[in-house]
Amino acid sequence: MDVLLLGTGASDGVPNAWCGCATCAEARASGSIRTNNSALIDGRLLIDCGPEAPRQAQRAGLELSGVRTVLIGHAHDDHLDPAFLMHRGWVSEVPLQVVGPAPAIARCTDWLAPDQSVVTFTTVTAGDELMLDGYRARVLPATHHALGEAVLYAIEAPDGRHLLYATDTGPWRSALLTAVTGTRFDLVLLEETFGDAEPPNGVHHCFTTFAAAVDDLRSIGAVDDRTRVVAVHVGHNNPTHDELVRRLAELGAEVHPDLTLLRV
Ligand SMILES: [Zn+2]
Ligand SMILES: [Zn+2]
Ligand SMILES: [Zn+2]
Repeated sequence: MDVLLLGTGASDGVPNAWCGCATCAEARASGSIRTNNSALIDGRLLIDCGPEAPRQAQRAGLELSGVRTVLIGHAHDDHLDPAFLMHRGWVSEVPLQVVGPAPAIARCTDWLAPDQSVVTFTTVTAGDELMLDGYRARVLPATHHALGEAVLYAIEAPDGRHLLYATDTGPWRSALLTAVTGTRFDLVLLEETFGDAEPPNGVHHCFTTFAAAVDDLRSIGAVDDRTRVVAVHVGHNNPTHDELVRRLAELGAEVHPDLTLLRV
């Protein structure tokens, strides 16, 4: 399974365009910009499609015509800019399945002609399981909300590799841990939005809750020493680059820039 990190940033990205903190200043000076979180799996499965995800694929030199499925975690605009459906509709008659919780699907429908049949929508809720273009996707409960339900995804690729895509979320719901017990993940993409700052309302992770979330997965065997844990949805409250890498390494996790390809 090849996982291309199209974007690794929180909703405002790094740098936040309006901020002069050390993390933002460093990112601005180095040109290492984190755009909205999104991952492209094997060129076929796109998870989250915020306003910058399609353009990020262009920066990687990739046409998205191989994508047959788009999974949306929740309705927040950094994870879903439905204009991609209109842009795709101008050039493609190839079927596409868009999957997400009800509030996300509701945001999509206005962006397609009423009589079109190229794009199909599948509304999911936590606990659902479905086959998508050869990938087994399990829908998991996020500790987050966006006009209603927000979900995470466990993906099993045709090659048998397992990915946990876990953003946006605060500390796990017990139903999530129950659902993933018995699965060993090869790759965990886990949000770490706030660094040393306190996440508002407990719907995102900071270093402390990120560490606890990884420990929870380790305690049920979902994460072991061969699992790569990668922090994503990184916000500017995090420390500057070298310190961020060091702090996450202490937690057994990695962090990478946008457009990093992870070969699992
Ligand atoms: Zn987000
Ligand atoms: Zn900042
Ligand atoms: Zn969100």
